Amino acid sequence: MSALAGLYLHIPFCHSKCTYCSFITGSYEDLLVQRYLTALLKEIASTSKLLPPLAQKIDTIYLGGGTPSIITPEWIESLLNACYKHFLVDSSSEITIEINPADINLERLKYYKNLGINRVSVGVQSFIDEQLKEIGRDHSSKEAILAIENLRKVGFDNISLDLIAGLPNQTLKEWKYNLSKALELSPEHLSIYLLEVKEKTTLYAQIRSGKLKKPDDDLAAEMYETLLENLTNNNYQHYEISNFAKSSGNFHSKHNKKYWLDIPYYGLGVSAHSYYNQVRYSNVKSTHTYIEKIENFGQAIEEKVFLDDSEQVREAIMLRLRLIEGINLEEFKATYNFDILATYKEAFSELLENNLIEVTNGYLRLTQRGILFSNEVFVLFV
Ligand code: SF4
Repeated sequence: MSALAGLYLHIPFCHSKCTYCSFITGSYEDLLVQRYLTALLKEIASTSKLLPPLAQKIDTIYLGGGTPSIITPEWIESLLNACYKHFLVDSSSEITIEINPADINLERLKYYKNLGINRVSVGVQSFIDEQLKEIGRDHSSKEAILAIENLRKVGFDNISLDLIAGLPNQTLKEWKYNLSKALELSPEHLSIYLLEVKEKTTLYAQIRSGKLKKPDDDLAAEMYETLLENLTNNNYQHYEISNFAKSSGNFHSKHNKKYWLDIPYYGLGVSAHSYYNQVRYSNVKSTHTYIEKIENFGQAIEEKVFLDDSEQVREAIMLRLRLIEGINLEEFKATYNFDILATYKEAFSELLENNLIEVTNGYLRLTQRGILFSNEVFVLFV
């Protein structure tokens, strides 16, 4: 894998707020969007100037959100042109856009394709319309299917699809239905998340007031087992806790792997994070403050945290353990001059006993049980 950096651009606007969402997003207001995107163009230019030429080389661009497909394709073009102008974008780069099925048609997808976008992540979440409505999604199952059919028509051959398991009141039968519909569409990649109920979300309030039932842990575990069985039987490789890729081909998310493999990335836009030279940077979390800061100073960094060697190693262990292949212990020792097994001997004996981790053929990895209870393992490295 190349160790070139990745570039993430955050588009913080959505048609409506999903009930479970805790991201920084707001609704689309023309003037605000214009000001925000103009600021983002400025941040792309000013960030590249801070980097030495070698660090300006990137091989992934990821347009995420929010909902990047909510802005006009002309704006997407301007953003990508700015990336090409100010960064050294490798010719084999993976360029991803997240889309809402309701936003796109053939014409728009052709536009994306002509811009060099070669990977599309479709936020489907469920193929059952009542469930989509319940969680505040503004697209239908039919629109999601049509979006994927249109992506194929236009020639996209690297499509990722997002699903959520454990939605309120979702039954195992409904989850199996969602999985079978997803598999019928044969996406190259699937990101599947167990629903998390975060404080300050509408869903949290609905559950607290008893209006909806909190997803049951046992049922969620059953859904997870069904998921693993179905995807393995259909030749998908489970390569990260929440991510699956077709075994035939190279469809792992090159961009997201940077987060898990301690490779630098630059996150631009409101609330975006960057990591390079052992420093984590976080941008401000308010869209208005972001715009003002960029307009006045060209940067909107709110927090800078230098990771000392020990913090860097602990983060690297925690993030690499998300990968199903685990950590190559020899390679890790050579890179970080750190012996994981010797250092965590005592703590690991309990995790091994509880069948949460395993060490085989020189790799340390989570077991299937450990994947379900990964937080119990990760807490060791915080
Ligand atoms: S589309 Fe995504 S970012 Fe926007 S509100 Fe829904 S979950 Fe949040």
